[in-house]
Amino acid sequence: MKAAVIMDMYGCPNRCRHCWLRHDRNANTPVEEFTWLAEQFKEYERDGKPFFEELIFNTWYREPDYPDNYRELWELENRLSTGKVPRFELASVWRLIRDKEYAPWLKELGVEIVQLSLFGTEKNTDYFRGRKGAYREHMQAIDILLENGIIPRIQIFPFSTTIDDISRLYQVLKDIRLEEKVNDMGKEFPCFLNTTGPIGAGFDLEDIRFRRSDIPKLPEYLIEKTMKHFRTESTDTLWKTESELLPELLDENSPLNEESEILAFMVDGDFNVYPNFGEIAEWWCLGNVRVDGVGRIIDNFISRNSPGMKMNFEIPVSYFARKYGKQDNERLWAKVDLVQKWHRLEAMNNREVYS
Ligand code: SF4
Repeated sequence: MKAAVIMDMYGCPNRCRHCWLRHDRNANTPVEEFTWLAEQFKEYERDGKPFFEELIFNTWYREPDYPDNYRELWELENRLSTGKVPRFELASVWRLIRDKEYAPWLKELGVEIVQLSLFGTEKNTDYFRGRKGAYREHMQAIDILLENGIIPRIQIFPFSTTIDDISRLYQVLKDIRLEEKVNDMGKEFPCFLNTTGPIGAGFDLEDIRFRRSDIPKLPEYLIEKTMKHFRTESTDTLWKTESELLPELLDENSPLNEESEILAFMVDGDFNVYPNFGEIAEWWCLGNVRVDGVGRIIDNFISRNSPGMKMNFEIPVSYFARKYGKQDNERLWAKVDLVQKWHRLEAMNNREVYS
């Protein structure tokens, strides 16, 4: 088995309202404890042989490079991993603003694009990011990235309550000539709209979820950019209303079977472990490395021994659709998100059965 083991060693400076990774405390885990964790996975054997063919270790799964020792952590990840450690198109906006050496360091590592998430202009971005000053810092981060030859990729989350502000944000991006500046670097400007996942903190945003009737109110430019980004001809293939998805899902007699391209075991600041295609919630927990050890966690993973694993791999989607599907609902969903919302409802409504 090849896998990544990713630990939320230091947390995140933000408390985004859509965060699928949950608002856990910022843990401040010592490097020695992360090294111990890595050794538990590396030394795990079955039938006298190492169980993992390849292991990648990451010291974060919320904000990358948030702690001051971010360079040391990157070196540590590379030292402990037995395969190539990927750099994702993510970076710390918090650090970009406060640490002059950070953007040049990213560039040195070969980072070409960094994704920035916005929710509208100042009021909405600060609100949805859960941090005053977040919008101003994102705007500053755009300049810092450009100065260092890194392309800012803009992800915009619209809600039914923020549609007008998305148009204002579009005007701001036009006024600062962001597309032209990126084109001047010989690159295409990446920018797209996205919907939020209904897990973690994002579960509480359903009432203001983006609706079918909101689409025509958005700037055509952003719709076109979105279709280009997701390589599709129509927004209908990206998002459907719950009413539109329901007939298909009522007939779906196989489970959701959601999996990630690269399997990762996500370890929270208390050493609880979750697979990266589920939710960081007790009904997905595979065990605790300190209490149960890696062997028990792998056994639970292989035998799908958690309520989340069972809902994902064993219970047909139609069961959840019958129980939780809403006939008259024009909120927009990707299919996986809608089914994962039902999994969460099922777990929350049946805590005694699923715990
Ligand atoms: S979405 Fe990302 S940046 Fe926002 S709180 Fe969650 S981990 Fe932090």
